[in-house]
Amino acid sequence: MRDNVVLHVADVHKTFGGLHALADIDLAIEEGKTHAIIGPNGAGKSTLLNVIVGRLAPTRGAVVFDGKVLTGMAPYQINQVGIARVFQTPEIFPDLSVLQNVMAPAFAKRDGAFRLNALTSFDSEKAIREEAEHLIEDVNLTARKHSHAGSLSRGDKRRMELAMCLIQHPRLLLLDEPTAGMSRADTNATVDLLKKIKERGMTKIIIEHDMHVVFSLADKISVLAQGRIICEGLPDEVRGDPRVQEAYLGG
Ligand code: ADP
Ligand code: MG
Repeated sequence: MRDNVVLHVADVHKTFGGLHALADIDLAIEEGKTHAIIGPNGAGKSTLLNVIVGRLAPTRGAVVFDGKVLTGMAPYQINQVGIARVFQTPEIFPDLSVLQNVMAPAFAKRDGAFRLNALTSFDSEKAIREEAEHLIEDVNLTARKHSHAGSLSRGDKRRMELAMCLIQHPRLLLLDEPTAGMSRADTNATVDLLKKIKERGMTKIIIEHDMHVVFSLADKISVLAQGRIICEGLPDEVRGDPRVQEAYLGG
């Protein structure tokens, strides 16, 4: 096993009643790389991310991050070891402003709990605010900084959520269809931002249906179909694989 692997998914199965949502899943995610998971609707992609972040317990198998077994840990504990996630459905504070939403995870990390109104040292609050403002600019939301998050479009919410993840400085970032519902311009801006993050060495797992996004970001691709990895490799290898054409591209 290569020693630059930061996350191992080892022999993971997940059943829902009689449905095998995941079967025999083995994945090795290398530090600093962007690993894309693609596959048709219902293939098990979101279930896999839910197992990694502790929202779902696998029926069998384990997830190991940086030598630490995550299986059995609560989602907040998994977040604390350095894994952040952009959900398929944005999870935000709709009544707070965009700026407050982006600052919140940094306060939570600093204080070890969500205390938005905590009495905090002015310096650290100022630093958090400055970083939040930079990130909001990176995700093209400066004009909406003081808007209620609940009033944002779906695409804007996703970019705000991305900023909420980035302010945590995670070692591993999980993205479940980060460009879903975005215009082409916002999609391109998001791809540029994700490339920038990559330069900073952050490891990412990205689930994405937009092949343009997948092929501009991924170092490696795993193709899931009906709960199994049917093909894995470099983007060019996966693109030409007949099993992928058949299962995924509907050929
Ligand atoms: P994808 O993200 O690839 O579209 P999902 O991981 O959401 O697929 O779903 C994989 C399969 O598991 C689907 O058949 C889906 O209906 C089923 N599934 C997902 N979550 C649950 C759940 N909580 N309970 C029962 N079935 C589920
Ligand atoms: Mg999904």
